Parts: sequence; structure tokens; C-alpha cells
Amino acid sequence: MFWDRVIETLERAALARLQLERLQTTAARVAARVPFYQRQLAARHVTPDHIRSLDDLRRLPFTTNADLRANYPEGLLAVDRRDVARLHTSSGTTGKPKALFFSRRDLDAAAELVARCFVMTGATADDVLQNMMTYGLFTGALMLHYGAEKVGLMVIPAGPGNSDRQLMLMQDFGTTIIHVTPSYALYFADLLEKRGLRPCRDLTLRKAYVGAEPYTEETRHKIEQGLGVDVYNCYGLSEMNGPGVAFECGQKHGLHVWEDNFLLEIIDPETSEPVSDGQPGELVLTTLNREAMPLLRYRTRDITALIPEPCPCGRTHRRIQRITGRADDMLIVRGVNVYPQQIERVLMGIPAVGRNYLITLDGLDDMSVQVELAESGFDGQVEHLVNLQNQIIERLRAETLVKPKVELVPPGALPVSEGKAKRVVDRRRL
Ligand code: ADP
Ligand code: ZN
Repeated sequence: MFWDRVIETLERAALARLQLERLQTTAARVAARVPFYQRQLAARHVTPDHIRSLDDLRRLPFTTNADLRANYPEGLLAVDRRDVARLHTSSGTTGKPKALFFSRRDLDAAAELVARCFVMTGATADDVLQNMMTYGLFTGALMLHYGAEKVGLMVIPAGPGNSDRQLMLMQDFGTTIIHVTPSYALYFADLLEKRGLRPCRDLTLRKAYVGAEPYTEETRHKIEQGLGVDVYNCYGLSEMNGPGVAFECGQKHGLHVWEDNFLLEIIDPETSEPVSDGQPGELVLTTLNREAMPLLRYRTRDITALIPEPCPCGRTHRRIQRITGRADDMLIVRGVNVYPQQIERVLMGIPAVGRNYLITLDGLDDMSVQVELAESGFDGQVEHLVNLQNQIIERLRAETLVKPKVELVPPGALPVSEGKAKRVVDRRRL
């Protein structure tokens, strides 16, 4: 099923022509209206007329997170204030907020993309969406909300937290789809287990759109089992509309990037040169269909890889691998590079391990990991716990080359945040 079959299956050559046309319009718009880009273009001796092919994208400047902050609040605005329909800010997991402006047309375009995602995953007007993301300045909930309404789903704007109320809404109104962070999804699965509820028997859930944080395939399986749903990976960032920038189709193998709206590059974060297809690198996105705040070559810092093969679903928009983390997520522990995702992959692959964990780095540059046990993970025999602890230490050492301390804690002992999960506490920088 397609929301917009023509555009979703547009042949590559026609898609490229559309992209070029839109890139030219975007370059002309920022060159005419945004002083920051006027300076950047002048420094590179580039004018919009130089953009004659998609390869000329490389003549355009990058835009970074720091540029957005430096131009806060209105420095990147490309329309008159009266033409702005909504303000969002980034959720601010990394420092000060960034201001993002959307015109009426931008909001409609964003909702269109989300509508494609819903229909791509098989959602229809018969579905009931419980949106468990944060409503407000964060794009996470609202951007998905309007796309769902476009398709005609019934939307329950639940927001995150208050799990008893979530459960009541699900049961009373027959929720079939949830939109949720991986950490809250796992927490919720725990709650069902504690209450003795079985999702397939006691709830009507079918799908979960899971995103806003990186997670592994192992975590996907845990969520699917715990909630009795099909999990679809949902990627986005406030700078590019929020959720719906890239989404999994029924194949659940890679996320289609809506390439008529975003021009996609994957580069080596160190050298800024393109990597070859299929190699991991930093995702860089250029908006192709935005009025209020177009962004050229935005460095997302998210690490992924292109899947060059066409998708069996028939969509021609290319896919990216699940985001494995941010370029700046990497921890250096005793001189060794460690990604939090490596730790998650190990932990979520061990059945006796529960659904939450916390990595702490202390003043001596030691890494310790607190790991929740699964509800059924402890049979009362202390030596089993010791064995499990040793097994986790050994697997983490093999994966990361750092030998961590591991502390096993009861299910539910670790804090759960309503927004994005905080998995790493680095006391070394305090
Ligand atoms: P902030 O940058 O303050 O966290 P956003 O709310 O815009 O603000 O978050 C976007 C970021 O969230 C992305 O750049 C990415 O790092 C992460 N993210 C969003 N969706 C996913 C996903 N499906 N998988 C992995 N990471 C994701
Ligand atoms: Zn597909």
C-alpha cells in the first residue's frame, strides 16, 4: 500500500531531476534571504547558478549543530516572521536548544511524509494510534500526530509516562499502534509482565513505531516479544522535521529516506569526504522542500550506512541502515574506543538480562555497568547470579576490549526517563 504511489515509486532518473530542481530552488532561496548562507557561499565563491547537477552539491557549505546554535534564535529564518506557522526546538539532549521554524506549507509537507510512513507500514483509518512521545517543543509527538490524522487514524495524544493511564487508554480505546522510545517501550513491557498481562490476550496492539534513540536488533526483538507487536524503526531529527524523515517498510530491513524531500549523503566524519556505498559514515541531509528554514548539508552526526540495493517493496527512495549512534557518542575508556551500542547489543542478547542498564565511568577511568535482571532472571541461587555476572563481564570484554565492573540489580531498580534515555553517566568530566 502506498500513500503517494507516484512519488514513492518514481524512477531514479525522474527523482534525480526533481531533486536537482529543488536543490536549485533551495540554494536560490537561502542565497537571497539568509545572511549566514550568503556569507558561506561568498567565502566559497559559489552562487546558486553554479548548481547545475546534483554533484554540485559538494560545492555548497556544510551546516553544523554549532551553526544552528550560533544563529539562534532567528538567524537562519528564510521567510518573514508572519509566514511562520510553528516553532519547535530540539529536545536539547546535547546543550542549548536550536530553534526550528516551519511555515504552513512546511508543516503540510512534513505531515505528508509521515502519512507515507503510516501507509507504508500497513496502517489504515481503522487503526488507533497512542502517541507516547513528548508533546510540546520537541518535534517527536506533534509531527507524527498530524501525519496520522491525515491518514485518518484515531489519535490518542497520550504523551509519555503515567503508565497506568497508558494501559487504561490502550484497553478502553483499543490502541493498535504506539509511537514510543525504545527505553519506554521496554519499561512498559516490564510493567505488563509485572501485572500478569499478556499483550496478545489482554491488549489489541499490533505495531510500534520506535525511535528517537538508537537501539539494536536485539532490543527490537525484546520489544516485539514483550508487547506482542511488529516494531518499525522510525528516524528523524528536529532539524529535518522530526519523525518521518526515514522509516522502515514491511521488509524491516533498512529505513527509506524520503529523497524527494531530503538529499542524502554519507561522509567520513573526520575527513568530510563521501564514503563508498554501504560503508558506515555520518548522515548529511539537505532539505529540498522547505520554505521557512532550509538547511544545506546538515551534519546530523548520526552514524549509518547506505543500502544501495533496491527494496523489494517497490519504493525507489533509498534505504539506510539503522542508526548505530552519534559520531560523538563514542566513549574513550582507558584509551579504548567504546560505543554504548556495543554494550547494549551484548546485554539485550542475554535472556536473563532485563530491559534497562546504566553505564558509569568514574574518576579512575573505570567503566561499570549496572544491569537489571529479567523478572524471571533470578531463581534464588546465588551461584547462578555469580555465573551470570561473570558471563556478562566476559562478553562485554570480548566485545569492547575493556573489562567492566558489572552489578546486577533487580528489575525496575534503575531510573527511567520520560524523554530520551540517559544510558551513560560520565563522572570523569565533572
Ligand atoms: P536532540 O538532538 O536534542 O536529541 P532531536 O529530538 O531532534 O534532538 O533528536 C534527534 C536525534 O535522535 C537524531 O539525530 C538521532 O541521534 C536520534 N534518533 C532519532 N530517531 C532515531 C532512531 N530511529 N534510531 C536512532 N537514533 C535516532
Ligand atoms: Zn521498502
